[in-house]
Amino acid sequence: MNILVINCGSSSLKYQLIDSDSEKVLAKGLAERIGIGGSVLTHTPAGKDKVVTETDMPDHSVAVKLVIEALTDKEHGVIGSLSEIGAVGHRVVHGGEKFDKAVLVDDSVIRDIEELSALAPLHNPANLIGIRSCAENMPGVPQAAVFDTAFHQTMPKKAYMYGLPYEYYEKYKVRRYGFHGTSHDYVSRRTAEILGKDRKDMRIIVCHLGNGASISAVKNGECIDTSMGMTPLEGLIMGTRSGDMDPAIFDYICEKEGLTPAEMNNVLNKKSGVLGLSGLSSDFRDLGEAAAQGNEKAVMTLDTYSYHVAKYIGAYTFAMGGVDAISFTAGIGENNYDVRRRVCDYLGVIGASVDDEKLHIRGEEIIVSTPESKVAVLIVPTNEELTIARQTLELLK
Ligand code: AMP
Repeated sequence: MNILVINCGSSSLKYQLIDSDSEKVLAKGLAERIGIGGSVLTHTPAGKDKVVTETDMPDHSVAVKLVIEALTDKEHGVIGSLSEIGAVGHRVVHGGEKFDKAVLVDDSVIRDIEELSALAPLHNPANLIGIRSCAENMPGVPQAAVFDTAFHQTMPKKAYMYGLPYEYYEKYKVRRYGFHGTSHDYVSRRTAEILGKDRKDMRIIVCHLGNGASISAVKNGECIDTSMGMTPLEGLIMGTRSGDMDPAIFDYICEKEGLTPAEMNNVLNKKSGVLGLSGLSSDFRDLGEAAAQGNEKAVMTLDTYSYHVAKYIGAYTFAMGGVDAISFTAGIGENNYDVRRRVCDYLGVIGASVDDEKLHIRGEEIIVSTPESKVAVLIVPTNEELTIARQTLELLK
C-alpha cells in the first residue's frame, strides 16, 4: 500500500509517498510559502530530477491539491490516480498525556488535537490544517495522527515532573513531554538491529542533533527520560533555541532590555542557541568553517554545545544504571565530525572508545566505536517519515 506522509507547518507542507511493502520512497517534496505569497512546490520523484513549480498556494488545501496533481502527473508522477494512496500519516507535534501512540483520525481526535494546541500553539493548529486539507481533497482515505510526544509517554513521573507547585500540573498539565519521539523510537530500534540485539534488553542513548536537538534515554525499549520539556525549548543548546537556563534570567533580561515576555520568548526561541552564542550562524557548517579559521567565538560555541550533549549523556547513563549504546542522528549528528569528536572525547570515563577514521563518515549507518569499546557508539540516520508510514500501516491492520 502507498502511504502519504505529511508534515505540515504553518506555511509549509513536506510530504513523502512511501510504498509500505518495499518501504521505498516513491516521491517526496515540499510546498513552501503557503498563504504568504511567492509559493513554491518542489517535487522529487525517486531516481529523477526535482521539479520546481512556482504557483500560487493561498492555503494548505490548494497545496494538498497540487501535491496530488504532482504525484499523479503523467510526466513527473509516480502513481496513476488518487486511488493508489491507501492512507495518509500526519506528523502531529503535541499529543499531551492523551496520546501514547498513533491513532486513526476521527472527529474526537481532531477535537483533542485542537485542545492540545494550548501546549503547542505554533504547531498543532498547522498539523490540523494538514489533516483537514487532506480530508477535503482525499475523502474516504484513512488518516493517522502520529505524535512527536507519544514515544516519551513511558517516562516515569519522577522524570516528567518539574519542581513547581503541583497545581500547575493538575490545572494546566505543566510537565515534561519531550519531542522528536518518532526519531528516538526509530533510531533506538535501528541501533539494536544494527548491533544484532533486542531493544528490550538494551540501554540506549539517542542524540538527535538537528536544528532542534534532543537526547533520550531508552531503557528496555521504552523512553525513561528526554531533554526537551513541556515545549521544545528545554534541554540542549540548539540552532536558535537556548535550551536549559536559569529561569530567573527571563525577568532579568526583560527588565534590562525593556522587552515584553513575548519579545523575550522570541529571543529564546529564535535568537539564542548557537546563533546567539556565536553571533555568526545557526548552521554548524558555518561554525565549523569559522572555527577552522580560528574564530574564538565559533570554537567556544562548539565547545559549549558539545559539553552540554556530554553532560546529558552522563546524566542518562546514571538514570539507566549504565549504557550499552549511544547513537548520533539528525543533521548534525549524522554529518558533523567536529561535534561528534568533541562529545566522544568525554566518553572515555564510561569505557567508550571510537575509531576516528569512522567518526569522519557522514550520513551512513555505521558503528564508530572500536571492538574493545565497552559502549557501542553509532551514527544512525533518522527516518521519521518511515516511522510515520509504519505506524499508519499498523493502525490499518
Ligand atoms: P536538521 O534539523 O536535522 O535538518 O539539521 C540541521 C543542522 O544540521 C544544521 O545546523 C546544519 O548545519 C547541520 N548539517 C547538515 N549537514 C551538515 C554537514 N554536512 N556538515 C555539518 N553540519 C551539517
